Amino acid sequence: QSPVPSDIAISRAQHPKPITMVADEVGIAAHELEPYGASKAKVDLTLLQRLGHRKNGRYVLVTGITPTPLGEGKSTTTVGLTQALAGHLGRIAFANVRQPSQGPTFGIKGGAAGGGFSQVIPMDEFNLHLTGDIHAISAANNLLAAAIETRMFHESTQKDGPLYKRLVPTTKGKREFKPIMFRRLKKLGITKTDPNELTEDEIHRFARLDIDPETITWRRVLDVNDRHLRGITIGTAPTEKGLTRETGFDISVASECMAILALSNDLGDMRERLGRMVVATSKNGDPVTCDDVGAGGALAALMKDAIKPNLMQTLEGTPVFVHAGPFANISIGASSVLADKLALKLAGTEADEIHTDKAGFVVTEAGFDFTMGGERFFNIKCRSSGLVPDVVVVVATVRALKVHGGGPEITPGAALHEVYRTENVDILRKGCVNLRKHISNAREYGIPIVVAINKFETDTDAEIAVIKEEALAAGATDAIPANHWAEGGQGAVELAKGVITASSKEKDFKLLYGLEGSVQERIEKIGKTMYGAEQVEFSELAQKKVDTYQKQGFGNLPICVAKTQYSLSHDPSLKGAPTGFTVPIRDVRLAVGAGYLYALAADIQTIPGLPTAPG
Ligand code: ADP
Repeated sequence: QSPVPSDIAISRAQHPKPITMVADEVGIAAHELEPYGASKAKVDLTLLQRLGHRKNGRYVLVTGITPTPLGEGKSTTTVGLTQALAGHLGRIAFANVRQPSQGPTFGIKGGAAGGGFSQVIPMDEFNLHLTGDIHAISAANNLLAAAIETRMFHESTQKDGPLYKRLVPTTKGKREFKPIMFRRLKKLGITKTDPNELTEDEIHRFARLDIDPETITWRRVLDVNDRHLRGITIGTAPTEKGLTRETGFDISVASECMAILALSNDLGDMRERLGRMVVATSKNGDPVTCDDVGAGGALAALMKDAIKPNLMQTLEGTPVFVHAGPFANISIGASSVLADKLALKLAGTEADEIHTDKAGFVVTEAGFDFTMGGERFFNIKCRSSGLVPDVVVVVATVRALKVHGGGPEITPGAALHEVYRTENVDILRKGCVNLRKHISNAREYGIPIVVAINKFETDTDAEIAVIKEEALAAGATDAIPANHWAEGGQGAVELAKGVITASSKEKDFKLLYGLEGSVQERIEKIGKTMYGAEQVEFSELAQKKVDTYQKQGFGNLPICVAKTQYSLSHDPSLKGAPTGFTVPIRDVRLAVGAGYLYALAADIQTIPGLPTAPG
């Protein structure tokens, strides 16, 4: 019987401070705080201007080794490390985490507030609804879906003249363009500002998007694991006049609107990104965007509060930003750029303090292991935000490394095999090949690396020593055991000291690839350098899609590869650090608003199902 109570028991036993007090302690002004009840608040983005003169605090990225399905404690370590930095070492320290989706929360995985004595509280507020950001995303996503369908309906049932009249209403007896229409006119190369001067041909081109229904990529979303909505037929009511179509649902966090929320640098940037999203192709082969449909401004209005990061607290009363949570299966799986930017200013130093040791810390998490989550964090999130981490923390556990050394598969719910409960240095050492590969991958970016050995009750000193030795041999700056799950911040003080030391080390930051050259070259770079692949193979479909994107001018975007998180490769059964394999790229899709292409190296579910015994 573990002396550590259950996560929910620990969470409930702690009474949170008023969120106004948490805000006050880190210097958020009363007028910048929008409380949602007693323990959550949104923070206004004007804070970025007020503190714009400050030098940023230190930026720490938490990632991990290739995990088991039980999770290796990245969120727990993110929280535990900040509890140590703030509560025990006197620094301002923010934990920046993702908002969990209700899908996984009620599914196999459960919530994502951390665990043991390193958690975000209150757990129920954190895991359910929060301040409604995901609901706002569902609304924005589905408004666009409705607008696309409605536009096709009106184009099919109305002639040019009546359609145009509906689109351009009469004010004071004269037709006038609404501001959003100038985006479409500009795209069509029409410079007239007076709608009454348009020719018949211009009216036709303006009024008709001519969407090819076969090419619509925009789907509806819902934050529930309702797998029966993966494929649906819409438009079956007689009022739709036979315009039926096959489509489907994704989980809300898989919406491109969520990726945009995570990557936007300000409100204006979010507005532009939403408008740029490509939702279909016209019958002429032109990309049709959200702004062509006329919905960009409306989507931005629905998301105007969602863009403000949410402040919460850890069990030890230290600050947490919970903001955005793009579905890691197909997107970046990191929290928002804006939460990081706000926190970095709040943890930052005034000009006259630069040479003192006052810098605070922002510890932000990237979903999945370093090789996927960390790679996407650098090449997509940092490329877009301009921020550069000072330290990369790689969370490792004895149990996951034993899986990579040949231990049997770990299944959630089943009893752990003996090898995971007793000392076995040989299997562990063999499995360290996985840790070494993640460290060598992380070294590509030129940032100091600290391995956090997340201690479990069954780990032995000899096992911890093996991980430490292997990590240092592979080039980590430091490798430090931490027991924050059982002890809270106190258990991560040594880790925090190691992170502080590493954060002032010299950096030689570089991204893995540039945006020149072909899409194939970029994917090959990721596959060969990061995954250890021999080669990357494109399906005919993937090749065709890439050619189209290149023609449409979308060829020079970073790449988000969608693959399993249970192997460095695309095949979940290949443990350790496999080599010599071929990564098959089945399909490549476009997320212009978010600003990347995503390449599917597996059959990825975009709306999970519920298990028989849901969490
Ligand atoms: P990740 O973010 O890597 O998916 P989490 O931090 O969510 O992992 O942790 C996964 C689960 O493992 C949580 O239920 C957490 O309570 C538990 N856990 C994490 N660290 C430990 C530990 N050192 N000992 C026991 N359980 C742990």
